[in-house]
Amino acid sequence: MLAKCEGIVIRTIDYGETNKIITLYTREAGKVGVMARGAKKPNSRFSAVTQLFHFGHYLFLSGRGLGQLQQGETIESFRSIREDIFLTAYASYIAELLDKGTEERKPHEALFNLFYQSLHYLDEQYDPEVIVNIFEMKMLSVFGFAPELNRCLNCGAQDGSFAFSIREGGLLCHRCEEIDPYRMKISPAVARILRVLYYMDMDRLGTISIKDATKKEIRQVLDAYYEEYLGIELKTKRFLRQMGKMKDQL
Ligand SMILES: [Zn+2]
Repeated sequence: MLAKCEGIVIRTIDYGETNKIITLYTREAGKVGVMARGAKKPNSRFSAVTQLFHFGHYLFLSGRGLGQLQQGETIESFRSIREDIFLTAYASYIAELLDKGTEERKPHEALFNLFYQSLHYLDEQYDPEVIVNIFEMKMLSVFGFAPELNRCLNCGAQDGSFAFSIREGGLLCHRCEEIDPYRMKISPAVARILRVLYYMDMDRLGTISIKDATKKEIRQVLDAYYEEYLGIELKTKRFLRQMGKMKDQL
């Protein structure tokens, strides 16, 4: 059966001397593995469309196993991401999170749109840390461990100051925070911004700017939360952290 999809390359591995296997995240079919025969040959018509983060129309033969790529056509190549090692690191982390949080052939159009917008705004040079934070916040519900950010987990209060409980999965007000001795102290700005990031449309990215100190706190909360619930540190995240240190030294 011939399938036609709009998709973005989220993973690519060499297969044999001349072939590549790419993983596409598509609007119509979710995640799909596709064999691109001859894609490693210098003059292959598949060489551009099988690059990491390439966004295009893909035509492939779809059976039980891997699809067989027949044709690809560029919609957006996200070249500035590929040409910038820092942006590549951010995009790779987003792509790996998406990969970890999704199964093959389970379409999820909102997630496709979110992923596309994230790459688009990275490519347009918007603040990569904020893009990554929004993506991470929204992926929490895809993974099935969305935190409570609107009210105290214990008493439901919406007023007062809040701590973040990794163990309980969200906010605890100052009256209830004792129930988790390992709670994280967070500033009122962080409690508010976590909620904003979680509900915000990526299209409104231009309207938000976050202070460095607040970003640091958000990073700590998200790192601890992901470590607790995902249980593994992604390769791309480790790399991103090393890149951050390098950047500080420049
Ligand atoms: Zn409470």
